[in-house]
Amino acid sequence: MCNDAESAEETGMSDCCSVNAKTGAPPAVMACPINGTRSKKVDMLTVKSLVRRLPLGMPNTQYYFCDAPDCELAYFALDAEAPRFLREDLAVRVGAKEMADPIPICYCFGFTRKDIQREIAETGRSTIPNRIKTEVKAGNCACEVKNPSGKCCLGDVMRTVKDKLSQKGNSEL
Ligand SMILES: [Zn+2]
Repeated sequence: MCNDAESAEETGMSDCCSVNAKTGAPPAVMACPINGTRSKKVDMLTVKSLVRRLPLGMPNTQYYFCDAPDCELAYFALDAEAPRFLREDLAVRVGAKEMADPIPICYCFGFTRKDIQREIAETGRSTIPNRIKTEVKAGNCACEVKNPSGKCCLGDVMRTVKDKLSQKGNSEL
């Protein structure tokens, strides 16, 4: 289920990069070991679903997703010894790291950045967020096993729509 569009905005800034000594709970956010980007926790189910070929003996540790466009690393673990996975190890294109079309934005229903752009160019608006919302409400999404971030895509979709609308607005001035 993915009714957690809001959680993409969560700002858990506390104590990143260190395990809470008292509870042993992994931090919500870790710095990417390659480029230092604040990377959010991702479920092991997401990692296992999206990494094309898992190594034998995967340790049971907390993984994090680096969404920086200029970083090849997709998943890294709290346990520094655990295997890391590059964008090319994933079965899907990591939209956040792609510069060339097709740039996936909604992994459940296959909408790309270009779909949004095209619709806005043709009609001046986008029906895509509402179409996705309808599917989410019907329980038809599977973000945790399809989206590399493991999160609902709606936040990214809305941001892209807003972006493209404002670009269009500017170009018409
Ligand atoms: Zn990174």
